[in-house]
Amino acid sequence: MCRSGFSLLLGLLLLPTVAHAGWFARDASIMGTAVRVEVAADSQSVADAHIDTALNELRRIDARMSPYREESELSAINREAAQHPVAVSRELVQLLARALALSEQTDGAFDITFASVGFQYDYRNGRRPDNRTLAELLPSINFRHVVLNPQTGTVAFRKPGVKIDLGGIAKGYAVENAAALLASRGVRSAVVTAGGDTRVLGDRDGRPWVLGIRHPRAERKIVTRLPLINEAISTSGDYERYFEENGVRYHHIINPATGDSAREVVSATVIGADATLTDGLSTSLFVLGATRGLALINRLPGYEAVVVDSRGELHFSEGLAPP
Ligand code: AMP
Ligand code: MG
Repeated sequence: MCRSGFSLLLGLLLLPTVAHAGWFARDASIMGTAVRVEVAADSQSVADAHIDTALNELRRIDARMSPYREESELSAINREAAQHPVAVSRELVQLLARALALSEQTDGAFDITFASVGFQYDYRNGRRPDNRTLAELLPSINFRHVVLNPQTGTVAFRKPGVKIDLGGIAKGYAVENAAALLASRGVRSAVVTAGGDTRVLGDRDGRPWVLGIRHPRAERKIVTRLPLINEAISTSGDYERYFEENGVRYHHIINPATGDSAREVVSATVIGADATLTDGLSTSLFVLGATRGLALINRLPGYEAVVVDSRGELHFSEGLAPP
């Protein structure tokens, strides 16, 4: 066989069975959490460009919405909105509108003004508000204190002391946006994860992506696996940021009714088409608990959930058969 014939044969044998050369992934730390972008691409350089696009989108949203950055739009709202309406970007107005709509839908279980009390917790250093501070600040938690004016593009607070934080919805929004950007650039298969929020594009070489829900009390264990195609999955867990005091776990998901950590469940996972919503809903379910939370999900077409309650029992929404 002549050389060219041999290389032709070799070329045919090596023809990939899928329409891309390989999978390329990168990890980073953005929005105070571990992020990962994985794309199917024909070469490392093409993949790198796509991964840069996705990571830059996460960074852009973090710069706008982080409560930890003084120059963010969110920080400007928290500094000034009790004094006068604060002009913000259309993008932030739209996300705030979605957050407030979710508050209505969840009877206030999801409430970005949780931060009025939530900012008094310091999980790293094991600090929480004392009872007097809690009683003083609790009336500032109420999403109805937030006045959003889409016409003027402004946000105001009805009373002093109100603070907002988008930690329960912004990561989902960011991964949704990053995935949409990848799709608009022709990427057909990818996964974008930020902390507990993941958006998959397409499938994985003809099969669904299979994502595990981690065991809330054993990092390496999985409670169940869910197959996903072109969908989002968000998990809220009490193991993400917490400290313990006298056997009580103080963690980052706050029940707006009490200003204390929500303790009916230890993990809540939601799957569905839109990562912004799965993110907001997983936080909501964590506060609502298994019964009220799953009742809400069962009313939402296309959304399913798995909840692990405080006794370690699993609860599934109607569309998910227990494994
Ligand atoms: P997630 O992991 O998506 O459940 O987000 C947890 C984050 O949501 C917390 O770190 C807070 O920033 C924020 N959060 C806590 N409690 C609430 C609440 N009741 N409503 C909305 N956001 C909340
Ligand atoms: Mg969430």
